[in-house]
Amino acid sequence: MSNRRKFLKSTVFGGLAVSTASVSSFACAPKSPVKKPVVVSTWNHGMEANAEAWKVLEKGGRAVDAVEKGVMVTEADPNNTTVGIGGFPDRDGKVTLDACIMDEYENCGSVAFLQDIKHPISVARKVMDDTPHVMLVGEGAKKFALDSGFQEENLLTEKSEKAWKNWLKNQDYKPKINVENHDTIGMVALDENGNLSGACTTSGAAWKMHGRVGDSPIIGAGLYVDNEIGAATATGLGEFVIKICGAHMIVELMRQGLTPMEACQAAVERIIKKYPNNYKELQVGFLALSKTGEYGAYGIHKGFNYAVKANDQDELIDAGSYTG
Ligand code: ASP
Repeated sequence: MSNRRKFLKSTVFGGLAVSTASVSSFACAPKSPVKKPVVVSTWNHGMEANAEAWKVLEKGGRAVDAVEKGVMVTEADPNNTTVGIGGFPDRDGKVTLDACIMDEYENCGSVAFLQDIKHPISVARKVMDDTPHVMLVGEGAKKFALDSGFQEENLLTEKSEKAWKNWLKNQDYKPKINVENHDTIGMVALDENGNLSGACTTSGAAWKMHGRVGDSPIIGAGLYVDNEIGAATATGLGEFVIKICGAHMIVELMRQGLTPMEACQAAVERIIKKYPNNYKELQVGFLALSKTGEYGAYGIHKGFNYAVKANDQDELIDAGSYTG
């Protein structure tokens, strides 16, 4: 092992308790040819979303357009109870949405606590493209959306309203691990030109307090892109992703030489180390993609999966996990 590698292992990763991860490659010196285009996204719903993103990528389009179009599929699905229309509401019966997007120039846009607008990711894109700001929330975000031509729409479906009324009977707030196996969609892509972008969108934790915002619209927590290095996104109980600045941490670990999978594992292990009394009760999953098209993911618990699409690939993969 070179001295530089030894130095990196003992200083940068030393406090991270990376049990199995070894420093196998440096982001600036890829050992295998670049795999592109490629798109990866969280959970089962990532398969359909990737198919839509692929329509942009296969024509040589920009990754940022691909990820926006891709996650819009999940936002528009009324049967999906964790993203967009049909999302389970907060404890007051309101569906409130969080989303963000980041492009290859590291421009970013975000909306949080947005109501009555079906495609928060496209509002986030407009915040990025058309305003001097990064993040708009609540009423201000909604006004901006309406002024920009988005339509107001009821997002509480019959199914979600029924589930909420049922929840009201016991009012027990205990987010479940891998519930229904389709949480937030986080998507990151590398396009034909070798540029990275990402998008993340969610209705957040079911039965959350009114006004609660999770990690998904927070740049650096639910999503981060550095076009020199890689991109990462998160799903699961957002409070714990925010507490460790999850996506940003993963990209920085990739900068230091960890593979996407190793970096995701290190972030999960950071949560476990810092919150040993909490992790057994909650799920967090991270997904990352490098500048060379290498991807990887890791969750606290078994059950987290992700979808991958490339020229020679279209599949759902089970992520590794800490608890086995
Ligand atoms: N990360 C999202 C949040 O905490 C929810 C999820 O991915 O399940 O709002």
